Amino acid sequence: MSYSEWFKTHGKKHAAVMAKLTHMSDEEVIRYFRFENMVQHEPDFCPLYAKHQKCHDMEDLNCYLCACPNFRFDDAGFKEIEGKRLMSYCAVDSKDGDVFEGEDALHQNCTGCTVPHHEAYIKSMFDRDWFKIMRKVPSKDQS
Ligand code: SF4
Repeated sequence: MSYSEWFKTHGKKHAAVMAKLTHMSDEEVIRYFRFENMVQHEPDFCPLYAKHQKCHDMEDLNCYLCACPNFRFDDAGFKEIEGKRLMSYCAVDSKDGDVFEGEDALHQNCTGCTVPHHEAYIKSMFDRDWFKIMRKVPSKDQS
């Protein structure tokens, strides 16, 4: 699945969950997206839920901002670096981020970074429209 396919599919899933939560306050919505609640009530939101597995080893994992507003991708790649196509990167160059080197491509590796999963960060970025928060993530308009 390409980045843009994932992005559109996930944004639609997020919107479908949000459509059920219109009666909740912002605080309640954020609480609803806690890993433990999502596993129970939204099993199709993330493929890892089936195995009760977290994408990051952290206690208070919140799934509202999967993916991350700082992630940048272009399905065609941004530029060539030493013979490899740069497909994605971190806009804030997080110290906990890394680069995954494929045979001919470079991808941002967020495995070690928990930035978007903390509730304080989610509150600072909050909007009920996931696509609005993520508007800078794709290099081209995905609407
Ligand atoms: S490294 Fe961290 S801040 Fe950067 S895009 Fe990945 S999750 Fe977001």
